[in-house]
Amino acid sequence: MLAIRNLTKTYANGVHALQGVTLDVPRGMFGLLGPNGAGKSSLMRTLATLQEADSGDVTLEGIDGGSIDVLRDKDTVRRQLGYLPQDLGVYPKVSAEDLLTHFATLKGLTQRTQRREVVEGLLRQVNLWDARKRKLGTYSGGMRQRFGIAQALIGNPRLVIVDEPTAGLDPEERNRFLNLLAEVGENVAIILSTHIVEDVTDLCPKMAILSKGRVLLAGEPNDAIDALANQVWRKQVTKATLPGYEANHTVLSTRLVGGHPVIHVFSDIRPEEGFDPVAPDLEDVYFRTLRLQARAA
Ligand code: ADP
Repeated sequence: MLAIRNLTKTYANGVHALQGVTLDVPRGMFGLLGPNGAGKSSLMRTLATLQEADSGDVTLEGIDGGSIDVLRDKDTVRRQLGYLPQDLGVYPKVSAEDLLTHFATLKGLTQRTQRREVVEGLLRQVNLWDARKRKLGTYSGGMRQRFGIAQALIGNPRLVIVDEPTAGLDPEERNRFLNLLAEVGENVAIILSTHIVEDVTDLCPKMAILSKGRVLLAGEPNDAIDALANQVWRKQVTKATLPGYEANHTVLSTRLVGGHPVIHVFSDIRPEEGFDPVAPDLEDVYFRTLRLQARAA
């Protein structure tokens, strides 16, 4: 659906934000996971035709089976693209309905009856129909993000890009938002960029881990999790002994459970007495992958 090849970007300040990114994004939800500064937004903005790459190619499969050169045929891409940026600015004094109508007009829906139908359909889809007359300034974070999805879906895009959409949402809002995304449709490729591992675990059949401008891992979350089978161990330790474990083992993560640190350690064999085998999860995959990169550096 979307083929990204050898994309590079170096900013004027010398930061290598993308260092040869190659990815295939199929239909459905695609999770792009990476720590802050990994290059996720740089990649999202490039795909959304908002900034130039230095080199590389990006091809989007068109409706007619033809292919669109994303880096060059920007106008064509924009007609098939929905984008929810990290900071969608909204006019706080305007109602959701009025602003969505305005966005729809900008997207080329100039025919009034049709536009009204589209706006109503989208507001219902994102569950904001009852709140459509309210000013956006009175919306909660979750409502604002759902409004953001409504504006991204105007014109039935084939590629939808959402950049860190769940940051700052409470758990209930986050679930509601992610469920909404999951319902968007089968013929659409949705790229969800996030630093929150559970966002990907819960929803994305395909994923990639990006760090320091490079793709460290791409594929299916379940395959990556299976590859760690029998190699992740868990132990409850004390705050005092934690530094020792970190020095002597590959500690993937530390979580406080009931006030005590519980560590996950990567090892082919039981690291020592007191470690129990644990079924790996995507968080283990994520930290293991980042660890390997740090060690190689
Ligand atoms: P992420 O979205 O994964 O947090 P970004 O793409 O925002 O990552 O940033 C990648 C790197 O590029 C970071 O080191 C960031 O500081 C840098 N960066 C991002 N945008 C710019 C810019 N406009 N000018 C200079 N450096 C930038």
